[in-house]
Amino acid sequence: MHKITLRGRDYRSKQPIEITAHQGVISHIHPIAEEKNLLFIAPGLVDLQVNGFGGVDFNTYPFAEESVEQVTRAMWQQGVTTFLPTVITNDGHEIEQMVVTLARACQQFPAVEQSVAGIHLEGPFLSSQEGPRGAHALAHIKAPDWALFQQWQKAAQGRVRLITLSPEWPQADDFIRQCVADNIVVSIGHTAASAAQIASAVEAGARMSTHLGNGTHLTLPRHPNYIWEQLAQDDLWCAMIADGEHLPLSVLKVFIRAKNGRAMLVSDVTSHAGMPPGCYHSHIGGEVVLSAEGRLSMANNPALLAGSVQGLLHGVNTLVKNAIVPLAEAIDMASIRPALSLNLPVQQGLAVGAPLDAIMLRSGEGNTLQLVATYKQGAEVWRGE
Ligand SMILES: [Zn+2]
Repeated sequence: MHKITLRGRDYRSKQPIEITAHQGVISHIHPIAEEKNLLFIAPGLVDLQVNGFGGVDFNTYPFAEESVEQVTRAMWQQGVTTFLPTVITNDGHEIEQMVVTLARACQQFPAVEQSVAGIHLEGPFLSSQEGPRGAHALAHIKAPDWALFQQWQKAAQGRVRLITLSPEWPQADDFIRQCVADNIVVSIGHTAASAAQIASAVEAGARMSTHLGNGTHLTLPRHPNYIWEQLAQDDLWCAMIADGEHLPLSVLKVFIRAKNGRAMLVSDVTSHAGMPPGCYHSHIGGEVVLSAEGRLSMANNPALLAGSVQGLLHGVNTLVKNAIVPLAEAIDMASIRPALSLNLPVQQGLAVGAPLDAIMLRSGEGNTLQLVATYKQGAEVWRGE
């Protein structure tokens, strides 16, 4: 029987503990005597929005099944043990082909099957308005269409688990009810919906906000508006990009306080993450520039962001180093909470009976955490130098 034992400092209690797992499942956790230089031990990170990584783009067809495995290993290297490849607005046939490739990758590679908790379909049922639409192609934006969605879901072998849509369409509430009946989580995003339409979508079963505060108009009526309404809806989990570029720190802080335990992080990383600084061509935004500091912007307008290139742990570190939340909460926001929002098996975190998905972290410079090792279902899948 495959057994593994890890010793570290519990990320919540800060007490030294030993965790034992059999066949990938945690069987014992107990306190041990104080030791020097113990690393923090925390649940593996869960990223609900991964567009690609290291040159692999889940939104440029074709990509190979092997490249999905490559991204899975890159995620492990970032401390992410569970993620949702994210397919955005595109030509309907291309969306179908991309989810087929993702589903095949799950079948072919055990590493992918273990780590990919589902597919996130971000679009094409979004706002057509400039601003909320962000970089999604106007030509492919459409009203929610259950028959069309079913076609993609079938192609994906039922793996679409999360869908981002805008409730501004008259068809939205019926579509949301059908998703809920099929156990698909509906997230509100890229929206120009009225406060009443947001409230109605929540009533119909929408349960999340996609990167709240991004993919919006540059100017909004002071109140009511779709940001206040989503913040006030207690049933909505709030996903945020905490790379320090997409949202000012004060906004992150206020969103977290308002959501009272339902705030969480996504990376929204793109294929340019993990690449050297330089100029790149992006299928959605034309020419983009990646700076040495990790900012991805449009070449013709550096004020506009062209996506994210920072992993989820970077978001955790942004919150910790700026004292927005304590370390344990920052980690929960990038692990247990996203797992809870989708009702995934890893939602228990480090607990007896839960899968041993864990990361070991060292306190580094400037109160930040550095990843030392990653464990997936009880196996060490990555270790740094
Ligand atoms: Zn988006």
